[in-house]
Amino acid sequence: MTAAGTRGAGLGGALLKPRVGAAPEVFVRGEGVDLIAADGRRVLDACSGVGVTCLGHTAPSVVARMAEQAAALPYVHALRFETPPLLELAERVVERAPEGIDRALFVSGGSEAVETAIKLARQYWLERGRPDKWRVVGCRPSYHGNTLATLSAGWHERRRVRHAPLLLDFAHVPAPDSYRGCERCQSDTGCTAACADALDELLVELGPETFSCFLIEPVAGAAGGATVPPAGYLERIREICDRHEILLVADETITGFGRTGRWFGVDWSDARPDAITFGKGISGGFAPLAGIGVSESIAEAFIDGSGRFEHNFTMSGQAIACAVGCAVIEELESQRLVEQVARRESALRASLETLLELDVVGDVRGRGYLFAVELVADRASKRHFDPSLRVAERAASTTLEEGAVVYYGGGGISRSGDFLLVMPPFTTPVDRFDELAASIRRGLLRLTSELAA
Ligand code: PLP
Repeated sequence: MTAAGTRGAGLGGALLKPRVGAAPEVFVRGEGVDLIAADGRRVLDACSGVGVTCLGHTAPSVVARMAEQAAALPYVHALRFETPPLLELAERVVERAPEGIDRALFVSGGSEAVETAIKLARQYWLERGRPDKWRVVGCRPSYHGNTLATLSAGWHERRRVRHAPLLLDFAHVPAPDSYRGCERCQSDTGCTAACADALDELLVELGPETFSCFLIEPVAGAAGGATVPPAGYLERIREICDRHEILLVADETITGFGRTGRWFGVDWSDARPDAITFGKGISGGFAPLAGIGVSESIAEAFIDGSGRFEHNFTMSGQAIACAVGCAVIEELESQRLVEQVARRESALRASLETLLELDVVGDVRGRGYLFAVELVADRASKRHFDPSLRVAERAASTTLEEGAVVYYGGGGISRSGDFLLVMPPFTTPVDRFDELAASIRRGLLRLTSELAA
């Protein structure tokens, strides 16, 4: 069953109007790592929604904790008051966060978290008596959210294009690209840590005294397609940020809370960020929850300065959402799921790499349970498909018809081409990875015969 023609349906496209054309499937239940559609069809959720449902769709302990908190106290205004789950979650997050992250603040989603980080970096420099430091550097491509400031900081071509000119003219450096090499490296064999020097060059050219922070994704997600940075890159970035006195903010919205096989994506490097943002996995999909973590020295600048971070959202630190975060972390720990992701990464990779037998698959890459399958028109030249063909989007649809939900990105309009994102729940039985790869294979074969016709 679909939502076609249902009044009020179709938030994805036709806001609150009857949907025209293809409609999304209506899912009514989740069981383990499967989604059950209204017509009874069962499919494998191979993308955790979009990197969210790390525990799958069945987690009785999380549901119980939610109900308990809803009954006790759902909400107080977190700008003035605190609740036990808010305090507990801050402690749990800081305990597991990269070394040097000592305080946490909670919001409702990744975009809010990154927006908060941008404002925090700006106010931090004001507190330090440096009012000219407000600009942000991001990577191209990258994705940091859908508000105007976060779209400006990131570079997700498809999501930016209809909103240009954006409100803020932030600067960008090429993101490392392990498949084609970035614009700066232009290397067929992928980037090296030297591509970090693009940041140094840009800051020198534009004046580091005007910049507040550099935003990175520890592993690229929705725009870059699971690109893992080259060894040494993050350490080199850290050194450049220190030298030019700009804050390094790691956007861990996708990578945080175990997605890459460690608690945080930066834990794969020796670089320690000044701030992190997180979202998605910490909620397990049970409540809107995200947040930011900062170093004690950043907090001290506020405490010794104006005494207040001038920023809040009504739903920041909502008590039920914080209770969910605590319960999700407890499950990740009691089932040792982060370690399991690290251990089983090779099994997921091996299943997905069988897809390289297909001419249309140019690259399989990723870390932990965050993988991309890049689709190319010509494997030898790594040529993109014509963007008007919407190959990745169509491949996600044919894969769904073949039994698995995957996400799509790229679209040939930026350097990163069409790709499918594969981000299974951490609880996925290992013997289902072959089933997942088989669904993608059948989906791609259907698509290629459609394209040939
Ligand atoms: N940052 C990163 C790295 C993301 O991947 C996303 C979402 O995909 C966001 C920020 C935005 O998060 P949200 O969609 O929860 O606002």
